[in-house]
Amino acid sequence: MKFYSTNHSVNPVSFSTAIMKGMPEDNGLYMPESIPDLSKIINQNTSLSFQEISYLISSKFVKNCLTNNQLHNIIENSMTFDPPNKRINDNTYCLELFHGPTLAFKDFGARFMARCMENFIGNYDKSLNILVATSGDTGSAVASGFYKVNGINVIILYPKGKVSAIQEKQLTTLEGNITALEIEGSFDDCQNLVKKAFLDRKLNKTINLSSANSINIARLIPQSFYYVYSYMQLKNKKLPTIFSVPSGNFGNITAGLLSKKMGLPVSRFIGSTNINDIVPKYLETGNFLPKVSKKTISNAMDVGNPSNIVRIIDLFKNVPKIKESMLSWSFNEKETSRLILNINKKYNYLLDPHSAIGLLGIYKYLELNHQPSNNIFLGTAHPAKFCDIIENIINRKVELPDRLSKLLSKKKKSIVIKNDYNEFYDYLIKTFQ
Ligand SMILES: *Cc1c(COP(=O)(O)O)cnc(C)c1O
Repeated sequence: MKFYSTNHSVNPVSFSTAIMKGMPEDNGLYMPESIPDLSKIINQNTSLSFQEISYLISSKFVKNCLTNNQLHNIIENSMTFDPPNKRINDNTYCLELFHGPTLAFKDFGARFMARCMENFIGNYDKSLNILVATSGDTGSAVASGFYKVNGINVIILYPKGKVSAIQEKQLTTLEGNITALEIEGSFDDCQNLVKKAFLDRKLNKTINLSSANSINIARLIPQSFYYVYSYMQLKNKKLPTIFSVPSGNFGNITAGLLSKKMGLPVSRFIGSTNINDIVPKYLETGNFLPKVSKKTISNAMDVGNPSNIVRIIDLFKNVPKIKESMLSWSFNEKETSRLILNINKKYNYLLDPHSAIGLLGIYKYLELNHQPSNNIFLGTAHPAKFCDIIENIINRKVELPDRLSKLLSKKKKSIVIKNDYNEFYDYLIKTFQ
C-alpha cells in the first residue's frame, strides 16, 4: 500500500519511506491510499487476541515493505500489554490504555514505530540518531519505545527543572542507546535547538538525524488496534457503541475514525477536549482558528493547533460529514476535578485528569441521547502519573504502581547543556560522528 500527502503536491510513497521521512516535503501528513475492509473479521471472530487483531490490521498497511515474519516479530515485541475494558457502571467502560512501560497510551504508537524503524534501518549505512524535544510525556514514550533497538540512538532534550520528578526519572534512567540532555532553558528552547539541528546542512551530512514526531503514520496505525479489540470484547453488540477520546492533537481519535472506515460499527466518536477548544469551535462554526495553548491539569492535551485535523478533513471532506461520525465538546478544570472526586467516591475508581475529560464526554452524550448504548471512554494515562494533581483533588495519597516506585530509586544520568546551539552541535559531533 502507498501513502499520499494530504496536500497532494508530492508523489505517494511506500510505508517504509513514509515512516523514515515522517512528513512529506509539502508539509502535509501521510494517509493510506486505501482503507482495508475488516468487517468480516470484526463480525465473525470474537476470540482473536489483541496481538492477532494488531497483526491482521497492520498487515494490510505494510504489504510489500515487511515480510509476515518481520511483522510478527514487530507485533510480538511492541504489543506486549493488552488494553482491557474496565467497567465503571452500567454500560460505561474505561478502555485502559495505560498498562505499558510509561503508563500512557503513547506507548502503543512509540513502540510500534520503533520496531518498524529497526527493520528499515538496515538500508542505511550509518546508525540513526533521533532527536526529541520534550516537556515530559512524549519523550519518555519514545525513549522507552526505542530502548535497546539496534542501530538507533535517541537523544532527548528536556528543560532542566521543568519536568516532574517521575517524568525526569523516566527520561534519565534508561541509558544504553538513550541519552538525556538537560537543557538550561525552557521547552521552547529545547524545540528550537532540535529545529536548528534539522536545518543544519553540515551536521546532517556528518550524522544521520531523524525525528519521532507524533504525526508519523507509524504511530497512528497501531492506535487503531485497540478500538477494534475493545469493541470485540463487548457483550451486547446490538446496542450502538460510542467512543469518547480525550484529545489534544487529535491523533488518537483519528485512528478511531480510521477504524470506523475499516468497518468498525461505531455510531459516534466524541473528541473531548479541555479548555483548548479549537476543534469543538471548528465543528460549531466551520472556522478553524488555532490559538496559543492554555495551561490545564490535563497538560498533554494543551494543544492550540491540533495537527491531525487535516487528516480528519481528508477522511470526511467537510464539517457536516465530519459531524456524522465525530462530535467534539470542551470541558473546564472545575468539571474535571469534580468528576475525579465523584467517581472515586461513588465507584472507588481513580481517573487521571485526561481520562476524566473522556468520561465527561460520555456523560454529555448521555444527557442528549436517551437510548441505551455501549459507552467507552479511553483511559489515556494511569492516575499515578499525575499523583500530585489527583492527591490535591481527593485529599489522600495515591499509591504508585511498582514500576514507578522502583524507578524513583534509580540513579539519574543526564548531561547538562547550556541553551546554546554551538554547545549542542559540538556535543552531537563529538558523540555520534
Ligand atoms: C497525548 C495525550 C493525549 C492526547 O492525544 P492526542 O492524540 O494528541 O489527541 C491524551 N491523554 C494523554 C495522557 C496523552 O499523553
